This record gives sequence, C-alpha cells and structure tokens, in this order.
Amino acid sequence: MNKTLEGIILSIRDYKEHDAIIKALCKEIGIQSFVARGLRKANSKNLGAAQVFTHAKFFVEFHEQKTIHTMKTAEIMQSYRTIREDLLKQTIASVLCECMEKADLDMLNISAFDFLQCTMNHLAKTSQPYGLLALFMANMNRYCGVEPYVEGCVHCHSQKQIQAVSVIDGGFVCAHCMNPTKDIIMHKQDLYSFRLLCLADMENFEAIETYQNWTFDHVQMMVRFFEEYSGMYCKSMRFLSCIAKMDA
Ligand SMILES: [Zn+2]
Repeated sequence: MNKTLEGIILSIRDYKEHDAIIKALCKEIGIQSFVARGLRKANSKNLGAAQVFTHAKFFVEFHEQKTIHTMKTAEIMQSYRTIREDLLKQTIASVLCECMEKADLDMLNISAFDFLQCTMNHLAKTSQPYGLLALFMANMNRYCGVEPYVEGCVHCHSQKQIQAVSVIDGGFVCAHCMNPTKDIIMHKQDLYSFRLLCLADMENFEAIETYQNWTFDHVQMMVRFFEEYSGMYCKSMRFLSCIAKMDA
C-alpha cells in the first residue's frame, strides 16, 4: 500500500552497498524505518531530504504490521538551515535526535513528534541553546519517569539550607543531610534554575530563555539524571561536551 508519512529524521545508517536505512519519528505513528534504495549513489534524488533532523514528507510502500517500509521518495518540509550553519546548534540537534530514538517515547501517552518539532523550532531561533537543551533533558527525564525531588531535602523534607543535588538519592539535599563525597554542591541560583527546569514544560521555553544565561553545566545536571535512571547513554552528548569546552 502506498502511503505518505510526515516525520523528522532521527538517524541514517548504511545498509548494503548503496542503500541506507532511515529512521524517522513520524507524526501520529511514532518511530518508523525506511529502506532507501540507492541513497548512497551520487545521483540519488533523495539526497537533499535524507539528512538527519530534516522534517520531511516520505512517500513509501507501507507494510502493515511492520515498522520497516520501502521509501520511494522524500521531500523536504523544513531543512532547519540555521541549525546546520551553527556547529553548536547542529550538535544539540544530534543529541535531541539520539535521545528521541533511544527513549522511543511513542510508547507513552504524548505526541513525541510534536515535542521534538517544538524543540527544533525553538532551537532554530534561540540565543540560549544550552537553556533549551537543559529543558529538553528535564522533560525527557519526566517522560521517562525520572522526577528529581525539588520541593525540599530528599532525605528529611526540610526546605531550609538546601545546598546540593544528589543524583543517587534523586533530588535536593540540605546542609544537615549532605554527603560531600557524593552530593553535588551548587550555588543558590543554580539550585533555583534546576528546580525551574524540573517543573517547566517545553511550552514555557520563552520564560526559561530570558531567565538567565544558560551554560553546559545546566545541561549536564539533567543528563546525569537521565543516564543514571534511564540507563540510556547518549553518544552525541560526549561530542557536545567537547564543543562546549571550546565554546567556553
Ligand atoms: Zn535534609
């Protein structure tokens, strides 16, 4: 059956000599794979559309009950050129795509496509890409069931003298309960912004964007929780940390 699907490309992997497998997060039906024959040939008409994080329309031979289909052609809907022209934003987009692919959120009762598209649209425009990624990771944590306790100390529930975050214990820690060998001591302002990220949705990004100047450190706190509790390891995050060092 012929079908047209709309989605954002998460990854492209070589398959046989000239073919590739495109994995895309599709509107309504989640992650689907397409075999793209001849994609690696220089004259392939699909080369332009078949790039990671392009929003495209796919014309496919759809195999019911399967998640792998045969792609005939692809057409660009949004190429995100401003993201591709900026190394930092491009790397962040790779992180978004890798996380979405690994977490496979179409299992949950949210539209994973809308969430990724909304994040990509913000990324194209923002002057605070680390703030955006930190919010994305905080939302990913929540969608994966990882919710750090930020209403008080995770041990004694006191709201006084909060001084650190414990990844292992899952939230804020007060001065009295703190274990300096394993807890991460943070400035008051960073504790505030950590809590803000834990409570905000992607729709609140405009407020996050103007809240402060965001850095890679804010992202890293969220990633620690993500990797510790979801068990997912994000390869492109390592490359981003190299870029972030150069950027700083
Ligand atoms: Zn305590």
